Amino acid sequence: MSKVKYRYRKFSDYLKDRYGCRVYKVGVNAGFSCPNRDGKKSSGGCIYCNNKTFGRQDKPVREQIEDGINFTRKRCSAEKHIIYFQSFTNTYATPGKLEKLYNIIREYSSVVGLSIGTRPDCIDNEKLDIVEKFCEDYEVWMEYGLQSINDRTLNFINRGHSYGDFLNAVKLTRKRKDIKISPHVIIGLPGETGSDFKKTAREMGRLKVDGIKIHPQHVVKDTLLEELYKNGDYNPPGFKDYTSAAADFLEYLWPDTVIQRITATCPTDMLLAPEWLNNTGSVIKDVNEQLAERKSRQGRLFSI
Ligand code: SF4
Repeated sequence: MSKVKYRYRKFSDYLKDRYGCRVYKVGVNAGFSCPNRDGKKSSGGCIYCNNKTFGRQDKPVREQIEDGINFTRKRCSAEKHIIYFQSFTNTYATPGKLEKLYNIIREYSSVVGLSIGTRPDCIDNEKLDIVEKFCEDYEVWMEYGLQSINDRTLNFINRGHSYGDFLNAVKLTRKRKDIKISPHVIIGLPGETGSDFKKTAREMGRLKVDGIKIHPQHVVKDTLLEELYKNGDYNPPGFKDYTSAAADFLEYLWPDTVIQRITATCPTDMLLAPEWLNNTGSVIKDVNEQLAERKSRQGRLFSI
């Protein structure tokens, strides 16, 4: 069987080229909270967020890392690992506490990278001083949850931060030349049309972000978005709408941006819609086929 040629820069290919072996991310829930849930920024959290989808933190961080390393070694023959502080806001603590926590990755010889998921309004120079120390020995990523560059949308989904906050985070992070930036964006946000996400895509192209995660909006139980969905005030994108929009998005990006994700998953007992969400293989295949049909690829419409 011939190998599929991807028309975008897949994260797995980037890692293979860089390390010459299989590198897997190990996601960790370090027990953080989020200022958008505890009332510091706003109350209630983002309208699509149900923290149960992040999984429970029922094991110490070291145990989670060891389990993840062992699992990916057995299941995927992984040789190296990137530890991904994933759940909630992973810079929401004092610099001293963050350093102690991130230092745990130094105990594992197969670890080559540190990835930190956080909000763009939860980073500052003191915290970046801590993160930057890891650049000497590790590949370091800051994954900033952005979702959209449209402040009206950010308000509506109750993000509790603005696009300006994201630009500020990018500015601060770019002063540390070895820290890579990977925003998270969502296609199909309530009230957004194709022109909104194309603006977000163009902006991510203009900023030449190092990586990106692109997700379809989905409806999870026990969220405000569930109410909108059940009242008929919101519908998530259909399969073809999403894959076509994701292909559009890729066309606007910088050709060197690494695509960390082009879809999302959700535990089936918590997912309300769309029903195709967890068919990740089909989504990836269709996005790539749409680019092929257009004789296009990531970066075709890139401009700065
Ligand atoms: S910032 Fe993240 S953890 Fe916080 S409410 Fe929004 S989605 Fe949930």
